[in-house]
Amino acid sequence: MNNKINTDPSRIRDILAKSSQLEVLNLSEVSSLIALRDRDVWDQVFETAHRVKQMVYGKRVVLFAPLYLSNECVNDCIYCGFRKSNRDAVRKSLSKEEAVTEASLLAERGYRRLLLVASEHSAGIDYLEKVVDSIYKETKIRILHLNAAPMGVEEFRRLKECGVGVYQCFQETYHIPTYRFLHKSGPKADYQLRLGVMDRAVEAGFEDIGMGVLLGLYDWRWDVGALIAHSLRLMKKYGFGPHTLSVPRLQPSQGFDAVSTGYAVSDDDFRKIVAIFRLALPYVGVVVSTRESADLRDELFFTGASQMSAGSKTSPWGYINGDDTEQFETGDKRSLNEVIDKIISLGLIPSLCTACYREGRSGERFRHITEEGTMKRFCRENALLSLKEYVEDQAVGDRRDALLRMLEHEGAVSTNGLIEKFRQIEQGKRDVHI
Ligand code: SAM
Ligand code: SF4
Repeated sequence: MNNKINTDPSRIRDILAKSSQLEVLNLSEVSSLIALRDRDVWDQVFETAHRVKQMVYGKRVVLFAPLYLSNECVNDCIYCGFRKSNRDAVRKSLSKEEAVTEASLLAERGYRRLLLVASEHSAGIDYLEKVVDSIYKETKIRILHLNAAPMGVEEFRRLKECGVGVYQCFQETYHIPTYRFLHKSGPKADYQLRLGVMDRAVEAGFEDIGMGVLLGLYDWRWDVGALIAHSLRLMKKYGFGPHTLSVPRLQPSQGFDAVSTGYAVSDDDFRKIVAIFRLALPYVGVVVSTRESADLRDELFFTGASQMSAGSKTSPWGYINGDDTEQFETGDKRSLNEVIDKIISLGLIPSLCTACYREGRSGERFRHITEEGTMKRFCRENALLSLKEYVEDQAVGDRRDALLRMLEHEGAVSTNGLIEKFRQIEQGKRDVHI
């Protein structure tokens, strides 16, 4: 395959120049990046991916936590700790009240955006609607995203109406024989049903969709190319593609050893995948989870990642109780506070912002603002305002002092009346954003 794909340094330079103009790459260009082997040229690719991320989003890194609602599942995905045939799993589905309790605890820690994660079980849309509605009404959480099984247009409409931000669903693998082998029973066995999920979500009014493949199920080069091809098809059809691309990498789970697929993705290749997503779709949010180790995650801030989960638990009731049956083993056990400290020490800005969802910057509009390169102004100011709120409500001791120094410095060099907005937050105003 590589023989036919042009990976000459001059070709790669042209591709990097195109991404640096914040233009979306075509599939032939993506193939050249995927096939590139030259280590020295890869260093230039990483540098450009970081520069493109800075051009689009500036120094901010958005932080959030997953909230697992249930591990009772009708499917039997070989790799997942929640699979139906896992007899060792301790099963639990959160009641509406329990979901609110966990969300409140996370809000007390400073989170304002959560990703609800649901296995596929009988409770369905009525349950999800009630949970979303109650968390918005009863906690300080401002935006809920959702990773849940594919649904029909009517169900998606109801989810959109109750205020879900991003609907996220991973194709797992686009390689049909591998998909069939890994998903033998339950609704998820239907490959086509999953493949069409984003079309149904968009038809129902979702403009922010989150996509991904589970890296390590099949040859990452093939799956990354297929995911970008799928994204480009959506973009052509609707004028916008994915709002986020996630990079879930296969981890061991109860009774499942991740290397058994024969397609384990190395750290080196993982860094490349993050950079390829950033360069292929410059405007996209590239999301890294706590599946990865702390050291690797800290590096990925500089190769194109723009969003990270932090302080995550991957079992229902995990925040209250500690872990029972985790979906998979997490690699980064740091708390939100510790991740915030680290991001600041790296010269970047942690962000708990939810402004775009409140201001209707979504879909095609979001893409245009990011491609013009103006999003980073919103991102910087909103990140700082969200941090100021976090300082007032959560931070204590040395962390509070360090954050206040940083905020005053950033405020002093700002021309947008940021200091005035900081004072409003000190006086008790909340959700201040532009
Ligand atoms: N049940 C829904 C589904 O399968 O689409 C959504 C929730 S599922 C808990 C979220 C994602 O976790 C899956 O799409 C899969 O990519 C990922 N996942 C499952 N098992 C994993 C493992 N062992 N390591 C890493 N990620 C895993
Ligand atoms: Fe169920 Fe999703 Fe796990 Fe498959 S990946 S077993 S559908 S929770």
